[in-house]
Amino acid sequence: MLQVQLYDTTLRDGAQREGVSFSVVDKLQITRKLDELGIHFIEGGWPGSNPKDTEFFSKAQNLTLSQAKLVAFGSTRRPKTKAKTDANLIALVNSGVKVVTIVGKSSGLQVTEVLETTLEENLSMIADSIRYLKAKGLVVFFDAEHFFDGFKADSSYSRRVLEIAAEAGADCLVLCDTNGGTLPSEITVAVKKARELTTVPLGIHAHNDSELAVANTLAAVQAGVTHVQGTINGYGERCGNANLCSIIPNLKLKMDIDCVADEQLAKLTEVSRYVSEIANLIPDAFLPYVGSSVFSHKGGLHVSGLKKWVGSYQHIDPDKVGNHPEVLVSELSGKENIIYKARELGLDLPVRGKVAHKLLEQVKLLESRGFQYENAEASFELLVHRAQPNYQPPFELVDFMVVVESRRRPPTRESLEEMLSEAVVKVKVGTEIMHTAAEGRGPVNALDKALRKALLQFYPSLAQVRLVDYKVRILEESIGTESQVRVIIESSDGVNSWRTVGSSTNIIEASWLALADGLEYWLLNRK
Ligand SMILES: [Zn+2]
Repeated sequence: MLQVQLYDTTLRDGAQREGVSFSVVDKLQITRKLDELGIHFIEGGWPGSNPKDTEFFSKAQNLTLSQAKLVAFGSTRRPKTKAKTDANLIALVNSGVKVVTIVGKSSGLQVTEVLETTLEENLSMIADSIRYLKAKGLVVFFDAEHFFDGFKADSSYSRRVLEIAAEAGADCLVLCDTNGGTLPSEITVAVKKARELTTVPLGIHAHNDSELAVANTLAAVQAGVTHVQGTINGYGERCGNANLCSIIPNLKLKMDIDCVADEQLAKLTEVSRYVSEIANLIPDAFLPYVGSSVFSHKGGLHVSGLKKWVGSYQHIDPDKVGNHPEVLVSELSGKENIIYKARELGLDLPVRGKVAHKLLEQVKLLESRGFQYENAEASFELLVHRAQPNYQPPFELVDFMVVVESRRRPPTRESLEEMLSEAVVKVKVGTEIMHTAAEGRGPVNALDKALRKALLQFYPSLAQVRLVDYKVRILEESIGTESQVRVIIESSDGVNSWRTVGSSTNIIEASWLALADGLEYWLLNRK
């Protein structure tokens, strides 16, 4: 049976989507989830390009993945330099992974017009870089950038690039439709030609600018490609990358290619929503296979048809991809779900009898108010603690007041820095009530400062904790400024990071709840 390797680039190419920014913690959690889904290769980022990706690779060494291999991405050496002194190639070697992908140009025009070097030098850059990485004992995938455009314009040069990369020892030649403008019929022709050139495995990396990334990927597989790159939910620059959430079920259910196990496929919907939550994007209800509405039936005829035969108006059994009509914890019954949720978040806390019942009620109530715990494991852990009969919180929120004042009247767009925010908070620690005030750059910053000021007197070590990320999501856009707002805050003590959630119709209150959870979590877990 044909084997296909799945290669995910959500953490690099997917993060190029407008509005998406993954923190290191986000990336580590997505990596774990992709491993559960059965992805074979997870591209974590470009260690030579930014410190965040370098940090990701150093922290990812501690992840225990059941099957996936982490991949670091980079490019070939620069023109007229040596591979062994190229900072970007050295960063790949130092990233600690065993598999790397390097991108190089495979279109003659791109070489002369954009890279501004000679066709021969480009071939040397590719060969030198692959040889250097192979000599370091790495598995090397070569991304042939602009392959299909290059093939159309001057197929002999594009083919030469593949031959050179194969001779240099590349373990896979990944044909890229970088601009996303190729048709499936053209993909088939080019892949077949490439297949005749070499026995090195071929891959496909398609972009969706012509709404054909999934179709092109499947056409490439039919023409002999065995390595498939894509992203969860098709996230990516411009119109996005090939969507693995469609490719995987198409391969497995329609083309009979066993790329993941049945149990892994049944996690597809969960993974899709998990990644959209972390990306802070509203899950697309109409995404094929995984959208919450794509197996719903409004029409009476369809509903009655489905009752007679489940296949009558749907192309697959939604159970196979784990898609069930929207199931919230609040709609589930029983404490098993809470225990399951706790385990999913990596918590092994005592959840039994009355405690589980109390916790379930609490989660139901909070989820109905817009709280969401998939992306805020620390707040969920606090809920579990709070459901325990003898829980003593390190502090309790009593009250807060925030004043935002524009000092220049009337305010102008240029005078934003003149805005003054001041917060007054009341917190209870033991039997004492603390009353403090602080000014800040914006109301959330003022609240954060006032809250710390109150707590530092009791817990000086809290000074290590910083707020590192702040995400806001409007939950019901239809009612404008009165909408429910969810705030997710990431805090860090320099070693560990954790996320907390707050929700309210008031953005300040939502932030306040998330901030307080962030500090309470750390106080409970500090050793
Ligand atoms: Zn790409």
